[in-house]
Amino acid sequence: MNFVPTREAGLARLAAFLPAAGRRYAETRNADDGPADGGRSNVSMLSPWLHAGLVGEREVLEAVLAAHGPRAAEKFVAEVFWRIYFKGYLEQRPTIWDDYRSGRDRAFAALENSAGLRSAHAQAIEGRTGIAAFDIWARELVETGYLHNHARMWFASIWIFTLKLDWRLGADFFLRHLVDADAAANTLSWRWVAGLHTRGKHYLARADNIARYTAGRAQGPLLAEGLAEDAQPLAEPEDHPRRKLDLPPPVKASDLAAPFALLLHDEAAHHAPLALPAAPALVIGAARPAARSPGETGALARGFAQGALANGMAGAAAAFGCPATEWRAGEPLAALLARAGIARLAVPYLPTGWTRDALWPELAPLAAGGRLVTLLGDLERATWPLAKAGFFGVAKAIDGVLAECGIGPGA
Ligand SMILES: Cc1cc2nc3c(=O)[nH]c(=O)nc-3n(C[C@H](O)[C@H](O)[C@H](O)COP(=O)(O)OP(=O)(O)OC[C@H]3O[C@@H](n4cnc5c(N)ncnc54)[C@H](O)[C@@H]3O)c2cc1C
Repeated sequence: MNFVPTREAGLARLAAFLPAAGRRYAETRNADDGPADGGRSNVSMLSPWLHAGLVGEREVLEAVLAAHGPRAAEKFVAEVFWRIYFKGYLEQRPTIWDDYRSGRDRAFAALENSAGLRSAHAQAIEGRTGIAAFDIWARELVETGYLHNHARMWFASIWIFTLKLDWRLGADFFLRHLVDADAAANTLSWRWVAGLHTRGKHYLARADNIARYTAGRAQGPLLAEGLAEDAQPLAEPEDHPRRKLDLPPPVKASDLAAPFALLLHDEAAHHAPLALPAAPALVIGAARPAARSPGETGALARGFAQGALANGMAGAAAAFGCPATEWRAGEPLAALLARAGIARLAVPYLPTGWTRDALWPELAPLAAGGRLVTLLGDLERATWPLAKAGFFGVAKAIDGVLAECGIGPGA
C-alpha cells in the first residue's frame, strides 16, 4: 500500500477499514497475508497516520465504537490502547530510551571492530540470511515501510535468538524504515520479544506458527528453517525505576490569550486532533526524521514524516488564516519567534523519543521562561498514569477511561 502522508488519506483508510474493525478483526488479525496494493484487509494499517498525529486515537476509537459497539470492537480498541500504554510506560521509564540509544551506539561501534559481525548484520538487513521468511520480511520492510505485527514479532525473535544479533541494531533497522516508527512501541516491543519488558518471558518464533499464519500470502506459507527453539531470554543488569509523571493540565483559551505560535512536529503533524481552544497567529513545522538513528533513515519513512508536516502546516495555515513557516534543524527557534514578534509557543506534548531529543534543547529555555504551553490529549492524561507495569493495568480500565473521556456509546 502507498502510505500517502495526508490527513485526508488517513481518514479515507479509516473509512475503508471500518467495516472490518469489529469481530472480523478479532478473528483474522493475526494473519500476515502479505502486502496488497489497496492495503491489507485484516488489519487497519493506520499506524503511520496515528504516529504522525494526522489522525488521532480519539477519532479512530469513536468511529470504530460507533460502527460496532463496545463488545464487537473490543479487540481493536485494546490494540489502540496498547499504543497509548507503551507511550505512557516509556514516559515513566525514560532511562529505557537513554539506555537503548547508548547500547545502540556501542553495538554500531562493535560492528566497526568485527568483520564477522559486520557481515552478519549486513546479511540480516539486506535479507540474505538464508532463512526465507526473515529475508522476505527484511526486504518488505525496506520496500514498503511496513510489516504486519506478527511479522515484526517473528522477525525480532529470529534476529535476537537465531541470528544472535544485538537487539538494538534490529530496533534501529525498524526505526529507520518503518513509516510508523515510534520510539515507545518499537523499543518496548523489541524488549518484550527479548524478555526484557516482562522479565524472563521472551517470544520464540516457531516455523509451524509462521507457516500457519502466512498461508494466505501470494507465494504460499513462508518457510523458516533452523530457528533457535530453546534460547534463553535476554537479561540486563540495569533497573529502570519509575519516575512520577508530571503531566500538564488541560489547556484553556485564557492560557492562549496572547498571540501564540503552534508548533507541529513528527508526532503531532496536524492541528485537527489537538482540539486547540484558540487560533494561533503563526504555525511552525519541525520535521526531524533523521534524528531516529545515526544511520540513514529510509526514503519512505523520511518522505512520510516530511509530507505529514507539509500537509499539517498547509492545513493549519488555511484553517486559522495565518502564515506557516518551517523550523529547520540547526536553526535557532528564538530568532524565528523574535522575527515574528511572538513570545508564546503551544507545543503538542513531546513524548520520550527522538523528536523530543531533537527539539527539546531549543524548547527548554522557553519552558523555563514560562513561554511554553503544552498540549496533551485527555486519553493520554487518563491512561498514562495506569501504564505503570504490565498492560493488564490499562486493559481492565479501558471502559472507565473511555467513559471519562466521553468516547463511545455512553458518551
Ligand atoms: C518488534 C516490534 C516493533 C514494533 N514497532 C512499532 C513501531 O515502531 N510503531 C508502531 O506504531 N507500532 C509498532 N509495533 C506494534 C504493532 O506491530 C504495530 O502498531 C501494528 O502492526 C501497526 O499496524 P496496523 O496499524 O495495521 O495495526 P492494527 O492491528 O490495525 O491496530 C490498530 C492500531 O493499534 C495500535 N497497535 C496495534 N498493535 C499494537 C502493538 N502491539 N503495540 C502498540 N500499538 C499497537 C497501532 O497504532 C495500530 O495502528 C511493533 C511491534 C513489534 C512486535
